Amino acid sequence: MTAVHVPGIPIIEAGQLVSTSPATGVEAGRLPVATDADVRQAVDSARVAGEWWAGLGFAGRRDRLLRWRALLAKRIEQLAEVVHVEGGKPVADAIVEIVTAIEHIDWAARNAARVLGPRRVRSRLILAEFSGHLEYQPHGVVGVIGPWNYPVFTPIGSAAYALAAGNAVVLKPSEYTPAVGQWLVDSFAEVVPEQQVFTAVHGLGDVGAALCRSGVDKLAFTGSTATARKVMAACAETLTPVLIEGGGKDAMIVDSDADLDAAAEACVWGGMTNAGQTCIGIERVYAVDSVFDTFVDKVVTRAGRLTVGAEGADIGPITMPKQVDVIRRHIDSAIASGGRAALGGPSAVQPPYVHPTVLVDVPEDSAAVQEETFGPTLTINRVRDADEAVTRANALPYGLGGSVFGRRRAVAIARRLRSGMASVNSTLTFAGMSTLPFGGVGDSGFGRIHGEDGLREFGRAKAITRRRARSLLPSMTFERTPTDMARLVKAIKVMYGR
Ligand code: NDP
Repeated sequence: MTAVHVPGIPIIEAGQLVSTSPATGVEAGRLPVATDADVRQAVDSARVAGEWWAGLGFAGRRDRLLRWRALLAKRIEQLAEVVHVEGGKPVADAIVEIVTAIEHIDWAARNAARVLGPRRVRSRLILAEFSGHLEYQPHGVVGVIGPWNYPVFTPIGSAAYALAAGNAVVLKPSEYTPAVGQWLVDSFAEVVPEQQVFTAVHGLGDVGAALCRSGVDKLAFTGSTATARKVMAACAETLTPVLIEGGGKDAMIVDSDADLDAAAEACVWGGMTNAGQTCIGIERVYAVDSVFDTFVDKVVTRAGRLTVGAEGADIGPITMPKQVDVIRRHIDSAIASGGRAALGGPSAVQPPYVHPTVLVDVPEDSAAVQEETFGPTLTINRVRDADEAVTRANALPYGLGGSVFGRRRAVAIARRLRSGMASVNSTLTFAGMSTLPFGGVGDSGFGRIHGEDGLREFGRAKAITRRRARSLLPSMTFERTPTDMARLVKAIKVMYGR
């Protein structure tokens, strides 16, 4: 029986996972589906390769990772085309995504030795006769499970840092974007041909589940919060540590002293780039009453100018066909509950496209405000002041990123957002700053990729003490005398008893 190709819906045909463009239905990728045994085999092989990779040391890995990022830079248009065809993402958005990934590889490669390498730590008076030594050793094999919406940036956010830390990586790309995942591992193999340090296994969700149970030493998951719960449950069986980058419903706050043109421009970008299919995309906006009407007008004007289509447009198709139903439900629910479409609305949903939609005065209990929409839609609600905006922004279980526009209070407001990240007078920018950690709180997950925390996420802290001299106050020995203990008690009272 021949499987039917519906644009954008991956199918399995003769043991191969076939991905297609959500815009045109053209075949994008065809890759062998891994069995449970294949997944275990991939992890076993990666373990051997990982030992070789760890043995290269920081300098050897740095050179190879920098060669990989150079290859990505040289072939940026080619990779952007694969991303565009397979996920429908506009080429310009794909290029921005790849640029960010290249920057992360570069930073991770250059900084791993400094952040993770062996170093002395200060000892304290209580154990002054010992020196302290700290280093972060690789876990071994890291499993990376990635989503489809940023099929380069998200796996590399984990994989580049895990590789720089000395781990081998087995990637399970989303079933919607296997060709992009394979492109990444193939390009890595070109610069590291000696061993299969970075490999991919393909298939549906069950292949991801098999990876969780395969004996990996750490699992880095990026995807929806619902799947994250399953991943954690599977990893709990073997006490496999997990990093969770889950979903979000990020808010933007527009304070009374904000530059409204800049805020509107960034809001439209933050909410509608990649057709709104962005974990850290702006989905909810809270604008202070005094600037609300002007701000909404400016957003509607800018969003109304965006073009929609398969080629050369600002907004491409919705990658995952069934997400269109979620977007439609959210728009309908916003309007049914008393909200108003200042732009777009139910008629904006024209599968596989959704045209820009701006919903205003939407009740906070509407699905459009409560749940991740993942479409080119925004809700903009009026608030009395920035305090009310913060309260509403923080009311959801998600806590990934966020944005604040304003002058005097903006940084203070950003600090009060219950989120892992925030941008002041911009949107999404923290994702591209490789020196900053990336990750969420609450339903958006835990653990961090990027930056120094992101490197440490993929290393096990190894602590060593080394005796430098005889103990003056011996206590951790059966050789201690009552006099030693009396002197210890006296010393402690002098040192800490004040
Ligand atoms: P999913 O949770 O549906 O899938 C994520 C990955 O998990 C896919 O590779 C999927 O495989 C795999 N998977 C599915 N079931 C299982 C299972 N039981 N065990 C292990 N792995 C499994 O998310 P989406 O791909 O739809 O991605 C969109 C979501 O990702 C959004 O919620 C978005 O906010 C979030 N996201 C979070 C980011 C962050 O950094 N916090 C960044 C980007 C996205 P398959 O595709 O084959 O089903």
